[in-house]
Amino acid sequence: MIVKRKILVKGLVQGVGFRPFVYKLATMNKLKGFVENNNIGVEIHVEGELTNVSTFILSLEKEAPIASCIEKIIVEDDMFDGINGFEISKSRSVSKEITRISPDIAVCDDCLEDIKSQPHRINYPFTNCTHCGPRFSIVKDLPYDREKTSMNIFAMCEKCTSEYKNVEDRRFHAQPIACADCGPNYSLHYDSEKINNIEEIIKLTSSWLNNGHLVAIKGIGGFHLACDAVNRESVKKMRALKRREGKPLAVMFRNVQSAKKFVKISSSEEKWLISWQRPIILLDSKNKLPVEISGGLNTIGVMLPYLPIHYLLFNQLNSPAIVLTSGNLSEEPIITENMKALNRFSSLVKGIVTYNRDIVNRVDDSVGFVAGNKFRLIRRSRGFAPNPVNIGLKAEGILATGAELVNTFAIGKGKSAIISQHIGDISNPETLQFYEESFHSFSNMFRFTPELVACDLHPDYLSTVFAGSLRLPLLRVQHHHAHIASCMAEHKLDEQVIGVSFDGTGLGTDGNIWGGEFMVSDLSGFKRKAHLENIPMPGGDKVTKEPWRMAVANLYHYLGFQETINLRTKLFSEIPEGMYLSLLDILNKNINCPLSGSAGRLFDAVSAITGVCRFSSFHAEAPMQLESKICNVDKLPYPYEFDGGVFSFGKMFVSLVEDILNGVPVSTMAKRFHKTIVEVIIDGVQSIYLETGLKKVVLSGGIFQNKFILEKTEKMLLENGFTVYSHHKIPTNDGGISLGQLAIAAKFLQK
Ligand code: ZN
Ligand code: ZN
Ligand code: FE
Repeated sequence: MIVKRKILVKGLVQGVGFRPFVYKLATMNKLKGFVENNNIGVEIHVEGELTNVSTFILSLEKEAPIASCIEKIIVEDDMFDGINGFEISKSRSVSKEITRISPDIAVCDDCLEDIKSQPHRINYPFTNCTHCGPRFSIVKDLPYDREKTSMNIFAMCEKCTSEYKNVEDRRFHAQPIACADCGPNYSLHYDSEKINNIEEIIKLTSSWLNNGHLVAIKGIGGFHLACDAVNRESVKKMRALKRREGKPLAVMFRNVQSAKKFVKISSSEEKWLISWQRPIILLDSKNKLPVEISGGLNTIGVMLPYLPIHYLLFNQLNSPAIVLTSGNLSEEPIITENMKALNRFSSLVKGIVTYNRDIVNRVDDSVGFVAGNKFRLIRRSRGFAPNPVNIGLKAEGILATGAELVNTFAIGKGKSAIISQHIGDISNPETLQFYEESFHSFSNMFRFTPELVACDLHPDYLSTVFAGSLRLPLLRVQHHHAHIASCMAEHKLDEQVIGVSFDGTGLGTDGNIWGGEFMVSDLSGFKRKAHLENIPMPGGDKVTKEPWRMAVANLYHYLGFQETINLRTKLFSEIPEGMYLSLLDILNKNINCPLSGSAGRLFDAVSAITGVCRFSSFHAEAPMQLESKICNVDKLPYPYEFDGGVFSFGKMFVSLVEDILNGVPVSTMAKRFHKTIVEVIIDGVQSIYLETGLKKVVLSGGIFQNKFILEKTEKMLLENGFTVYSHHKIPTNDGGISLGQLAIAAKFLQK
C-alpha cells in the first residue's frame, strides 16, 4: 500500500547533518518526496510503501547523527503532489519561532582521516563536516547560515562549493566548510616573527612543548595555555604564570590508553571522555603527574583532543599529556581576541598560536564528574551551551540574571530556558563585561526581548544590579529556593517536594546567610523547615579565603572564649597569637560578624580545624581538599544535635578537638565528618517526611559537587524509600541558579 506522510522533527536537527541523513534514509527506503529546514525544525514529506515509510520513521530516531537531539517527531497524513525521487529543498521561515543552535562539536574520525588523505586538506586544521566542527562559537545570528557566522569573510573555493552542494558529500551544507585553499589559517607569533605554514607551526610549537616551554594556543572558544604535563618544571612555570597557587590545572591526554596510566577511568567516565562534547572530567588520580597539577587534590581534570590542531600537535609530542588551561590571568574571562592574547602573553610564553577567524561566542571547556554512574556537569559551556532546557512551563520573555560567583544567565523562549555558557565571577569587571555582551548577543540571536526579570535576593550581586538597571518588572528569588527550583526544572517537577540545599552562601529572607537548608518547596514558594545553626562569620566574606576564621568561630560559639584561647597553641600554632586574639576579639564584640548557617562554612571550619586547609587559594578549596582526604575504611559519624528545626554541631567540635589532640589521622576525621553530613541530611529529610508525608527529595547546591556526599546521600535516601532528584545536565552550583530563577518566574507568570 502506498501512503503519504508529513513528518516534523523538532529539536537540535540543524547544522548537524540531519537533512543529508534524511535524504540517504529516504532513498534507501525507496521513498519519494522532500525534506526542508524551517525555523521550527526539519520537515519531511514522503511517499512510498507503508512498510518502507514505517522503517524510515523508526530509523529517523534510531540512526540520527550523533550531535543531533530529537525532541519530538510529529507524523501526519499528507497530500503533497507527487515528486519524482527525493529532494532537499531550500530553507524557509514559517513563523517567529526559532530553531536551536548546535553547540561546538569535536572533530570527527572521518575529518581526521581527510586531514591525512584529501589533497586540499592535508594537515588542514580547520577541517570540519556536517557532523563536526565549530557551531555556537562562530554564530552571530540565526538562522544558522555561513553569512551569519565568522566564516562569512572566507569565500568558498570551487572544490568546497561543489562539496557543499553535493547531497552525497559529508560536507553538504556544512556551513563552516573550509580547506587549505580557502579557509582560515593559523599563525605562530614568537620573538618578532610570524609564520603561517601549518607544518612549521606544529613543528616549532611541539618542539617547544617537548623542551619544557609554555605556549598559548587559540582554541575553539578562547585561548589556552599549554605545557608538558609530565615535566614538573614546566608545570611550575605554568602555575607561576597563572598567578594561582592551588587551583587544579586541566590536562589533555593523547588518548584513553595513555590517560589510563595516570588516572582511573570507569566505563561511564570513558564514554563521556570520548563523547563529541569532550568535556573535562574529574578523575581519580594515580598520583603519577606532578603534584602542582592537582594542587594536592586526589582528582585530575582530564580531557581528550577535540580539535584537529590538538591531534597534529600530539603527532609530534613526546609526552602523553599536556596541561591545557584556560588562557586568562587569575579570574578574568578566557581571552578570545588575537591582539589581546599577543599583548597579554607575549612576554610570558615562548610562542602564541592564533588564527584569523573571530570567536564570536566565548566558550570555556565544560567540566563534569561521574557520580552514581551518571554524568554531572559542573561547568556547562563548550559542547553543551546553548542547548535549551525544556521546563514544561511557558517562559517566553523571562530573563533570569543568575547569581554572582559562578554566573550564568538564562532567557525564556517558548517553554524552554536557554542558559548562557559559563560566565564566571561577575564581580570581576572584565567578566561583568562578558556577561553584558553575552546577554546582548543572546537577545539578538534568539530574538529575545525581556519582559520580566528574575534575580537573586542579594541586592549587591552585580547580576541583581544589572536586573534593576533594565527597569522592568522584577522578581527577587531567594538563592536556595532557586537552587531547588533549578533541579526541579531540570526534572520537569512542578509539585511540592522536600528540598535540601547544601551550599556555600546565599542571602536568606531573615537577612542572615543561608546554605544549610531543608525546605518544603514548589515553584511558587518555600517554607524553611530546618537549617544548620547560625555561626558568626568573623570578617564577613573574608572567611571564604581564610577558612581558619570559621574554625575559630565554631570553637568560640560552642566552647566559649577562654577554651578557644587555650586551644590556640595545640590546634593553630602557626597562626600568630596577635591575629588569633584579634579574631576572638571581633567575635566577642560582635564586630562585622554576620550570621551564617551555610554548610559550605561548616566544611571550611572542619577543613581548617583539622589542618587540611586554613587559607584557601581558590573558591571552595577547603571543602575540596577535605573530600580528598577521606579514607576508605568505614567510620562512625560524629555526634550532633537536632531539635527539629536547627542542627547544632557543638558535640561534633568537641569530638574533633579530642581526635586532633589524640593524633587521629586526618583521613579518619574527614571520613567521619562527611558521614555526619550525610546523616544530617537523612535526618532532616525524615523529619519533614514525618510532618508532611512528602516522598520526593530534591538535592541542590554547591555541596553536592562533593562526590562522597552526593553518592551516599542518594543511596541512603533511596534505601529509605524516597525518590531522589539531583542535577545531571545543569550545574548543582551557582551555575544552575539562573534556571531556577527562570522556572520560578515562569510559574509566577502562569498564575
Ligand atoms: Zn567531520
Ligand atoms: Zn576550499
Ligand atoms: Fe549557591
